[in-house]
Amino acid sequence: FDQLDGQIWFNGEFLPWKDAKIHVLTHGLHYASSVFEGERAYGGEIFKLREHTERLIASGKILGFDLPYSAEEIDAACNELLRRQGFADAYVRPIAWRGSESMGVSAQKNRINVAIAIWQWPSYFDPEQRMKGIRLDIAEYCRPDPRTAPSRAKASGLYMICTISKHAAEAKGYADALMLDWRGHVAEATGANVFFVKDGVIHTPDPDCFLDGITRRTVIDLAQRRGYKVVVRTILPEELEGFSECFLCGTAAEVTPVSEVGPYSFQPGEITRRLVEDYMAEVTPKRLAAE
Ligand code: PMP
Repeated sequence: FDQLDGQIWFNGEFLPWKDAKIHVLTHGLHYASSVFEGERAYGGEIFKLREHTERLIASGKILGFDLPYSAEEIDAACNELLRRQGFADAYVRPIAWRGSESMGVSAQKNRINVAIAIWQWPSYFDPEQRMKGIRLDIAEYCRPDPRTAPSRAKASGLYMICTISKHAAEAKGYADALMLDWRGHVAEATGANVFFVKDGVIHTPDPDCFLDGITRRTVIDLAQRRGYKVVVRTILPEELEGFSECFLCGTAAEVTPVSEVGPYSFQPGEITRRLVEDYMAEVTPKRLAAE
């Protein structure tokens, strides 16, 4: 992935993609002092760019650092890079991390670096499978107690258990894994939030120890605009048997129907289909929707 053409925005400069390199003694690599975002551009516009940028800055603050760029500067860099990359639809990955000026857990003086890469990432899950629903395993690792990890930050370190869990699920032929939290409650997938449907009502866990996704909030809003009731509450794994529909949502995943979670089966139905469509309509720039 480091040999693509195009450019990467790196600490204020547009570098050739292949030249956007860092040293092996980067603090972010050794100690996970790194935060990032995942955004999608549709029709040349980055969906909810400012919300993502603000979350990136907030994630840095949770890890104890200020980004050396303002939200306006980061937004402008994302937009200019998207223009230079020439993609209408693309995935946008800003990242900020502590640099290589000193080694050791303490790195108060290490530079805070910021980079942005943009590439084409058509669909997280196989598009043909999407409406059929994907199959999820139940992960062994749990989302940690907020006293154990900075769960409100989109921090690289929190993804260690996501990659392990996703690889374990893939090795068993599943697309992804559903993670429970430290109390044993249903939490989220390895890179997306989860929703369920029962008797026409939508249920989703309270994000008190995992990422409150921007897509999650968008989907709740879309569902309420459709007149659906959305209940945010504790969901126990044994309740999965009683739900008729299940879907994931996230910037990369968009709205992805789920057909199985471990031993439980779901039928992507009316509400999931509506929200898949409503989400795609919502992310499409208004000028394109009018054409
Ligand atoms: N949870 C995790 C662990 C994620 O990686 C993501 C994707 N960023 C989400 C939830 C969904 O967040 P968003 O809708 O803001 O992309």
